[in-house]
Formats: sequence, structure tokens, C-alpha cells
Amino acid sequence: MNPVQGRQAHPALDHGSATAAAQLERARAIAASVPDPEIPVVNLEELGILRDVQRADSTIVVTLTPTYTGCPATEAIRQDVHDALAAGGFDAVRVDVVLSPPWTTDWISETGRRKLREYGIAPPAPVGTTCDTPVVIRFVDRKTAAAARAPDLPACPLCDSGDSELLSEHGSTPCKALYRCRSCREPFDYFKPY
Ligand SMILES: [Zn+2]
Repeated sequence: MNPVQGRQAHPALDHGSATAAAQLERARAIAASVPDPEIPVVNLEELGILRDVQRADSTIVVTLTPTYTGCPATEAIRQDVHDALAAGGFDAVRVDVVLSPPWTTDWISETGRRKLREYGIAPPAPVGTTCDTPVVIRFVDRKTAAAARAPDLPACPLCDSGDSELLSEHGSTPCKALYRCRSCREPFDYFKPY
């Protein structure tokens, strides 16, 4: 890092300069890289819950949208953001929680989805596309209907087979469902889209 920064007593208090912009960018990077307490392979930015990092006077204001209202992890995340920024030299920090617009699994970044898959969790299917896609109603036999439904089942994160079955609507956390792959027989968590 820049050796000058180490000599400043209050780096976060430096206003109106290129240094201030760099400090804000550094604060943003620190907040973004805080791991999700429930799924530590993804950070807050990849999960799409980091909304904004701004400066209000000498305070760094971090805005988060929890994955769902009342998520028990929210308080842990809030504390983790405070701790990470304090470790980075930012003492005056406020974490605001904003519920509107509500977080949806569509906000999980491509990197986040890849990391979930590598961790053994099937990433959520897109939510936004279902409403926009015209639905064509046809009369088909059961086998064809089952095949048409198959894309709704999450692909196994281990072997990529689309042939999975729902074991339980509730997996290791309320936001996940438990599935089993019919190909490799391994159970896996599916991050429920919403
Ligand atoms: Zn499998």
C-alpha cells in the first residue's frame, strides 16, 4: 500500500481529495469482500446484497439488502461489515438495511453462481424470465409433459445431471431446498429462486 496512508491518523476523515475517493473505494472493496456467514464461499457483492457504500461526513455508510426479511444472518453480516472495516482503519461506520426493492436471487452475480456450484449448491434459476416468457398451452401425453417440466428441476452441482428429485422444501437453511440427484444419488442444496 501507499506508505503515506500508514502515517495518517484518520485516513477515513480525509475529505475532498483524490485520497478521499481512494479511501471510499477501499472501504467499498472491504465491504464487498466480506463473506456471507451462511455460505462463506460467496461474498456480499457476489451475493448481490451490497447495495451501496457512501461517505456521510466522516462516516462510511454501507447499505445492505438482506436476502430475505428477517433472515437471521443479517445481524451477523452487519457485525462482520463493521469488523472488516474497523480492521481496515475505518472506525466510523454505519450499516443501513434497505428492504426495498427486495433482494431476489437474480441479484446473485455470475461469479457468485459459479462459486455456489463449486461449493455443491445448485444456484437459483432466474426469477425474472418466467413472467416475460409467453406460455403456450398444449395438450400432451404425460411423458412429454414430464420432459417439459424437467428444466424446472435444478441441475446437480456435482455431475450436472438435470435428473433430480425434491427431498425437502427446507435444506440446511430456510432459503434452500434439499434435492437428490437421480444420476449420482448425491443429495444437494438448491438455493431457492425468489
Ligand atoms: Zn449428480
